[in-house]
Amino acid sequence: METCNAAVITEHNKPLTIQKVKIPDLDPGSLLIKITASTLCGTDVHRWHGPLGDKDSLPIITGHEPCGTVEDIAGERTDIMGAPVKRGDRVVWSYVACGSCYYCSVACQPCICRGRASWGHNRSDQHPYLLGSCAEYMYVPKECLIIKVPEEVTSASAAAAACAYRTVMHGYDRLGAIKSHETVVIQGSGPLGNFATAVAKDHGAKKVLVIGAPANRLEVTKKMGADAVLNLEEVTDEKLRRQWVKDHTDGRGADVVVQVANNMAVPEGLTLLRDGGRYLNIGAGGKANIAVEKLPQQMDIITIRSGEPRHWLQAIDFLASRRKIFPFEEMISKSYKLDQINEAMEAMASYSVVKAVINF
Ligand SMILES: [Zn+2]
Ligand SMILES: [Zn+2]
Repeated sequence: METCNAAVITEHNKPLTIQKVKIPDLDPGSLLIKITASTLCGTDVHRWHGPLGDKDSLPIITGHEPCGTVEDIAGERTDIMGAPVKRGDRVVWSYVACGSCYYCSVACQPCICRGRASWGHNRSDQHPYLLGSCAEYMYVPKECLIIKVPEEVTSASAAAAACAYRTVMHGYDRLGAIKSHETVVIQGSGPLGNFATAVAKDHGAKKVLVIGAPANRLEVTKKMGADAVLNLEEVTDEKLRRQWVKDHTDGRGADVVVQVANNMAVPEGLTLLRDGGRYLNIGAGGKANIAVEKLPQQMDIITIRSGEPRHWLQAIDFLASRRKIFPFEEMISKSYKLDQINEAMEAMASYSVVKAVINF
């Protein structure tokens, strides 16, 4: 059996190692993808630092944000639009939902399917081995929907669409229309925050205000369309941050607050919202006792997990069609090779980059 190189977590908090991992035989309908780019995500860092959930068991190929070209297909496949998929096509692909559980079939909420499959946390010594994106090849199960990447979207941006950006698209999908008089506050200036800034602006918000850190990330945030940014590291008093939002909203608070930081940001975020506002909670990391003095009256709160296949498509389409308006490539701060994986993970862990990419 053939093998390929992959960046493997063998022990939490210890350097990753480049190992030879088996390339599996293809089951009918599955694909083998030659990875062109894999972006890193905060979740990869959290998982490296310690197990996430009770299902993590090592060794794991890190990474869940892949883009690549089709190397082999077992049989005939079409993409999400119904077009045939051929060898050499550059693609991204969705996670797997079972299609038959209560959440998939009755509630139509496949992101919380109990039988779902995703990448970057599967054992690399068990079939089908290649389910992490920091590897030369990935195995794509037959249930995944395929989204072709147009030429004008780089592999690095497409890879980021496979997690961060599609989750943002899912969030805005569930939020509904943003009206032209509305002010949106974004909590967080990482890759999700910066993409969320661009989408809020594109969807017609009157004003997009971003609270985040550090300064290098906020520079990118401004280029992604933020009307004003507030550096958390400079304005450390929560009351002053609240006042800043009030000053921008005639004393009312924001119409919409989008949380793309972590759960610790929720109590403050709720106080930034006007009565009757909508709170879109995307950042799911970090444990927090979400204690609030009082909730805004008549508010809506929406929480998000992952994305449905169409959100992968929406993210890719947004990158392609808005590329002249927003400098998406600036969100990918630094490129590494596979054998520099530890350097790349450290850069993500220290927030010295917005997003790191492993280019193959
Ligand atoms: Zn991710
Ligand atoms: Zn299901």
